[in-house]
Amino acid sequence: MTITRDDALRQVPDGRLFVDGLWLEGSTGGERTHHDPATGEVVGKHQLAGSVEVDFAVKAARDALQRGELADPVRRRLLLSSLADAIVAAAGDLAALQTLEMGQPIRATRAGVALAAEWFRYFAGWADKLDGTVVPAGGAVLDYVVANPYGVVAAITPWNGPVVSIALKVAPAIAAGNAVVVKPSELAPFSALRFARICEEVVPPGVINVMPGGPGAGHALCAHPGVDKISFTGGSSAARAVARAAAENHTPVVLELGGKSASIVFADTEPTVVGKLGALLGTIQNSGQGCFLPTRLLVDRAIHDEVVAAVVATAEKARLGDPFEPSTTMGPLAGEAACERVLSVVEDARHRGDGVLLTGGQRAGGALAAGAFVQPTVFGDVDPASPLAQEEIFGPVLAVMPFDDEDEALAIANGTKYGLAGYVWTNDLRRAHRVAAALDAGYVSVNGMAALPPAAPFGGWRGSGHGVEGGRWGVHEFVRLKNVCVSLG
Ligand code: NAD
Repeated sequence: MTITRDDALRQVPDGRLFVDGLWLEGSTGGERTHHDPATGEVVGKHQLAGSVEVDFAVKAARDALQRGELADPVRRRLLLSSLADAIVAAAGDLAALQTLEMGQPIRATRAGVALAAEWFRYFAGWADKLDGTVVPAGGAVLDYVVANPYGVVAAITPWNGPVVSIALKVAPAIAAGNAVVVKPSELAPFSALRFARICEEVVPPGVINVMPGGPGAGHALCAHPGVDKISFTGGSSAARAVARAAAENHTPVVLELGGKSASIVFADTEPTVVGKLGALLGTIQNSGQGCFLPTRLLVDRAIHDEVVAAVVATAEKARLGDPFEPSTTMGPLAGEAACERVLSVVEDARHRGDGVLLTGGQRAGGALAAGAFVQPTVFGDVDPASPLAQEEIFGPVLAVMPFDDEDEALAIANGTKYGLAGYVWTNDLRRAHRVAAALDAGYVSVNGMAALPPAAPFGGWRGSGHGVEGGRWGVHEFVRLKNVCVSLG
């Protein structure tokens, strides 16, 4: 079914915070007006959480745990399954609101919502399977290990995939028996508040609280003595602030941060793949606003010119436009500030001579001039040590670099502070595994793009953070172990 901008505007929540099963009237964090990044027009107003609401939400989560709302694993399984069903039922609204608030094309937001439901369904299955173990202790001793929830989890999420980001944290946290305070980014409040309406229908009060807010609310949560675990996704500088605040109470933290991931294209890549390289998705997909997207393209010199020509042609064919239009492949950036920031990064790179601008680099004009649209931008012959090749841009900017052999490719790929993802394109099985093993990153794809299946661990190394989301490893991030040693003698 086609969803229009008007449909989406009719679904915009009234902007109140959802705490303890109630919609709060007013907030100490103030109010914010949100603009549609595709048109610049006002979408609506919403409340921002302040420290008073943070206190209220942490207490509500603690009370829900004390009432035993999450004590029964079977009940948790059913609760997560109900959330998955309710997300599927509300998929149209959730996708439309994301497209409206952050400009991602509707086909992609629909896929994101379907993925979010999958994560809830997958972790429903874990809720009653977190068993303990008996440790061989010898003699008349029974020693056993029990998996316990932490208690209250703070889930701090980014704006660039708002519903799936909530699913990645909330689903495993609840499966493990924790109550959650979700603080979505202030830049994507409405899909999160629509998710809160789902929680109102299917979740007991206080189990999931949703309160969009800015850095102040994030800090109040991270420094709160009633928060037992923090799961944060965002950029490096906010992550430092999170880690500092968490250190005050020794609160454990999972940090899912940014990246500057490389696609390495070897000369033996399947020729049919070369022309339509998924590598370029690093620029077009979500307008380059994805943590694990391949924003560096390293190409074997033997096929360099051919690949670069194909990549530039694909960039120039991208359908920039209204993200509600089903044929649009690339929407705006998340807002005017992001647009200005990306254009200034491009300008600085040109000025310094970090590489050769092959296409793009401009704001889109004409009918798109009022929105935050930047043309897909490709720089060739980029200096691997330059800021253009080293810093996360979070925009539609691809840095292309040639290489002469596998060692050089790996040295460039591993030569940034980040270690989130890596992409290998080759027809040689041995090379594929060898390079995958040598990439200094937590998530590697061979001849394809990362897809975030819920059963696999996703997480960065080095400057891309620590801890994972997904699979048994992801649910264990929300579990703490207790050893019980019983003397039977
Ligand atoms: P951001 O760091 O600006 O904000 C992320 C979240 O942190 C938001 O909810 C924000 O309000 C909050 N925040 C900001 N300052 C804070 C503080 N001092 N204390 C506590 N919370 C604070 O990032 P963003 O612009 O929302 O998202 C883009 C960044 O997120 C990029 O770097 C991207 O690569 C990264 N990201 C990583 C992943 C991953 O899984 N590794 C996924 C998506 C995005």
